[in-house]
Amino acid sequence: MQEIWTIGRLLKWTVQYFTQKGIESPRLDAEVLLARVLGRERIYLYVHFDEPLEPAELARYREAVKQRALRVPVAYIIGEKEFMGLPFKVTADTLVPRPDTEILVQAAIERLRALGRSAPRFADIGTGSGCICLSVLHFLPEAQADTVDISAAARAVAEENAAALGASDRITFHTGDLLAPLAGRSYDAILSNPPYIPDRDLAALAPEVRLKEPRTALAGGADGLDFYRRLTAGAPALLHDGGFLAVEVGIHQAAAVAALAAAFSRTEILKDYNGIERVVVAWK
Ligand code: GLN
Repeated sequence: MQEIWTIGRLLKWTVQYFTQKGIESPRLDAEVLLARVLGRERIYLYVHFDEPLEPAELARYREAVKQRALRVPVAYIIGEKEFMGLPFKVTADTLVPRPDTEILVQAAIERLRALGRSAPRFADIGTGSGCICLSVLHFLPEAQADTVDISAAARAVAEENAAALGASDRITFHTGDLLAPLAGRSYDAILSNPPYIPDRDLAALAPEVRLKEPRTALAGGADGLDFYRRLTAGAPALLHDGGFLAVEVGIHQAAAVAALAAAFSRTEILKDYNGIERVVVAWK
């Protein structure tokens, strides 16, 4: 008898296959990929376990499963990642937005709001998909942003995201190196999730990150602090008095980054959902 590939059977099979391949969240990944192929929400799968797939759907699902087994991140396969409750297009040219980075975004939103300016201006350095600056713009509808990324390919993705989120008229894109394109401007805040993985730790990253995500978004030099040195040195000249630099940091880097910000008047260290020091805010 020919076996019929129903939603339930396919999920069961895929979970086993992904588990064998060492995929960290086999069930979730299988569900997200299958839901995407079917153009449905994940919840749909649970109430349609007995529904068979069309041959074309099955072929698309098989291709997605094959990609995932090769350690392509789910976000790259489906071309999208949710961040701050908003959908962001992502490609292999942009780091996949991480939940931990929402700490930086929330901190920036609260502090920009508390400044009480009618139209706060901020810069986002190393913008990638645009998830940081576009979610700040989304939640602060009067704000304006300049973004910088060294990658023209990433900029193209961020521009698409800006258009999709209706923020294109409040954002100016610059392609270039860190703060260089912003010389002579001034901001209420400068935000960044720079590359911060120390060189010696790159080899130990998960294969999805190490093999598939852009190295230029990850590698932070020998001790991982290269970009913080340059940001803390250059940011004061671009900040209004009372403005702040807020950066995401890697594990065990917060104290060192706060120390680099000695020229600022005061620093704060904020923890992520796992209790790890994740954000340093330095006030001018
Ligand atoms: N948080 C990312 C990771 O763990 C690194 C991002 C970065 O270097 N800014 O892979």
